[in-house]
Amino acid sequence: MIQIKHLSKKFGALEVLRDVSITVRKGEVISIIGPSGTGKSTFLRCINLLDRPSGGSIVINGVDILDPKADVPAIRRKMNMVFQSFNLYQHLSVMDNLTLGPVKLLQTGRQEAEKKALELLKLVGLAEKADSFPDELSGGQKQRVAIARCLAMEPSIILFDEPTSALDPTMVSEVLAVIRRLARDGMTMLIVTHEMKFARDVSSRVLYMDEGVIYEEGPPEQIFDNPQKERTKIFINRVR
Ligand code: ATP
Ligand code: MG
Repeated sequence: MIQIKHLSKKFGALEVLRDVSITVRKGEVISIIGPSGTGKSTFLRCINLLDRPSGGSIVINGVDILDPKADVPAIRRKMNMVFQSFNLYQHLSVMDNLTLGPVKLLQTGRQEAEKKALELLKLVGLAEKADSFPDELSGGQKQRVAIARCLAMEPSIILFDEPTSALDPTMVSEVLAVIRRLARDGMTMLIVTHEMKFARDVSSRVLYMDEGVIYEEGPPEQIFDNPQKERTKIFINRVR
């Protein structure tokens, strides 16, 4: 469903992604791990067109998203992204955070959008917070609202960029539980994470990125227990 070929990204002279190729099938959960500054966020941002790739191709469900005629807002809706910093609308209630996109962009009626929003809040364990505002929530609650808001747009793919890095350790597990549940329900996800145990449990495949390339990829058992290449071994030993 996602076919990425020879993707490259430069910021001026800095080559951040080099010849990245990967195919992601429907229902796959792919974790992306690797040292800081190696292009993991840039990779997700290129897939979501928040950064414009310098070269290569990205085809999603048969649509070449780098085609100048591609409908970028529609592509972004199908491939929603969850950020480390939640990015909730601070001046809107939790309910309004969840209904804004469906009402404005999907032309869903308000009543239907609210019904759906309540279901999603139940899914993430926050039905009682519908009328709260973001600054009345804990970090873990904010991130669960952000995930519910993402789901309200009915994406076929979700991109997570370090969804738990900004959270107190006590709140990490409640957010990971929601992502695990989505994995069980068959959602296609790409997850940049430093949570190695979680990555091992939830992923169908793990990509180890290093200096702008997918240096090694494989099932979690390979990457975590039996890495094949030198730099993967060093990284895994360090984070274990
Ligand atoms: P981390 O684990 O710290 O989040 P990362 O693997 O996500 O790191 P990126 O954020 O993708 O790394 O950054 C990769 C490289 O690209 C870094 O050297 C960064 O400084 C550079 N970079 C990222 N965004 C830009 C930008 N908008 N302009 C210039 N350089 C950028
Ligand atoms: Mg990053």
